[in-house]
Amino acid sequence: LTFGDEGDEEDWVARPPVVTVMGHVDHGKTKLLDAIRNSNVVAREAGGITQHIGAYQIVTELEDYERPITFIDTPGHESFTAMRARGAKVTDIVVLVVAADDGVMPQTVEALNHAQAAEVPIVVAVNKIDKEGANPAKIRQQLTEYGLVAEEYGGDTMFVDVSATTRQGLDELLTAILLTADASLDLRANAEQDPQGVVIEGKLDKGRGPVATVLVQRGTLRQGDSIVAGDAYGRVRSLLDEHGNKLKEALPARPVQVVGLTSVPRAGDTFLVVEEDRVARQIADRRQARIRNAQNASMRKRISLEDLDAALKENRQLNLIIKGDNSGTVEALEEALMKIEVSDDISLRVIHRGVGGITKSDIDLALADDVIVLGFNVRAEGQATELANREGVDVRYYSVIYQAIEEIEAALKGMLKPEYEEVALGSAEVREVFRVPRIGNVAGSIVRSGVITRNSKARLVRDGVVVADNLTVESLRRFKDDVTEVRDGYECGIGLGSFNDIKLEDVIETFEMREKPRA
Ligand code: GDP
Repeated sequence: LTFGDEGDEEDWVARPPVVTVMGHVDHGKTKLLDAIRNSNVVAREAGGITQHIGAYQIVTELEDYERPITFIDTPGHESFTAMRARGAKVTDIVVLVVAADDGVMPQTVEALNHAQAAEVPIVVAVNKIDKEGANPAKIRQQLTEYGLVAEEYGGDTMFVDVSATTRQGLDELLTAILLTADASLDLRANAEQDPQGVVIEGKLDKGRGPVATVLVQRGTLRQGDSIVAGDAYGRVRSLLDEHGNKLKEALPARPVQVVGLTSVPRAGDTFLVVEEDRVARQIADRRQARIRNAQNASMRKRISLEDLDAALKENRQLNLIIKGDNSGTVEALEEALMKIEVSDDISLRVIHRGVGGITKSDIDLALADDVIVLGFNVRAEGQATELANREGVDVRYYSVIYQAIEEIEAALKGMLKPEYEEVALGSAEVREVFRVPRIGNVAGSIVRSGVITRNSKARLVRDGVVVADNLTVESLRRFKDDVTEVRDGYECGIGLGSFNDIKLEDVIETFEMREKPRA
């Protein structure tokens, strides 16, 4: 797996396989990982690993294979899948642990499904063979049903009998991992590219502040690099290996602890290195804004969830970067674009222009703002394309000016589209709160203005402060009858679904979101 590496073949280096251990609870994942960790040369020489970290590298001490292997030690396949859902491809090989005295269990099957969905080769560790009642043949038999056929039965999955307790079979397991890696994976990565990778776990350390365990997937991460990890950023103050030793640099497949971030990133966040601290900060800010806006938008108005981007575009400005094959065309294009008029409150701004291909620094710049990058008779360089794809930067190529104009005009009009405004429907004041079994609290209220309608959106206001915003009038009653609406001046019982924090004198406002008429 090359994670889309590029560049000169000679920059590519062999990298260790990255392995995740999965399996049913109590089948021995933790103990097996501990056994592996403690059996390797480097750990012994360094006096063992005392602290738990989410990923570490061991060096095997086998006859033919004195080679490193990286293990990801995160709890359960949920995190494996969570990372995958967030686009992080971390693992090359899954070791599926099955207890020989127990057999295939529900989480064994789940783990298997996750590994197969990720198209990752599986090595089966049949654990606890020291136990009475261990039946490793039965495990092989059971797993054939799930498409894992042992080599000795003519299949292509390696099964290894092990005991995490007696340490029997550990060398064979490590050998099987390396053989599987060599047989089915191309484990090389470009060590000269801009470093990037995945956050395995993040934590706040009392003494050192935010610490992230990251897996370098490409390039070489170095002390002093300006790094963005998720929405955290900072300068790499120190890189530590699993023994707490300081490293100057970390090559592909190397897990390291990064100290120096300003906040704690989340597992599965990708990280990248940029040229300057300033850019790192801009990218992180932008990502934070994106998250905040998404959250606000989903809290504020359900209706416009379809277009979270609308929230992003609150500043109603479209930023452009123009790159072209010569200064004449760049100027001509800019001039033509600036003549586009869509609406008074939407403006176009060219934040950068230049002659030549689209570079990585153009994309870095685009990342820090909401920007469309236009290439006129030029293309993006390899690393720039790759960064743009990964970060979702909009890069467009043109060779005809009017086409560029048409498209940018359409983009500007697109910014106009999903706009909704709130229309107030009614308000009611809470006079009494009833507790109704199985339904919850119902607000005995008097309608003060407009109409209260069943199923309309509602918010609760207490002493002028909005307490809850995305509520719905789920039940509405007059005396004992269900009704669809109650007018100004009348009393009614209002139920707000599972929302129960209703107090005397609260005001319930109802409203709807309407698409704003287009100018
Ligand atoms: P996990 O939930 O998969 O991480 O399982 P643990 O590593 O916590 O192991 C569960 C239990 O099985 C513990 O009591 C271990 O001591 C025990 N155990 C794990 N591996 C072996 C083994 O190879 N042999 C025996 N006899 N017990 C084991």
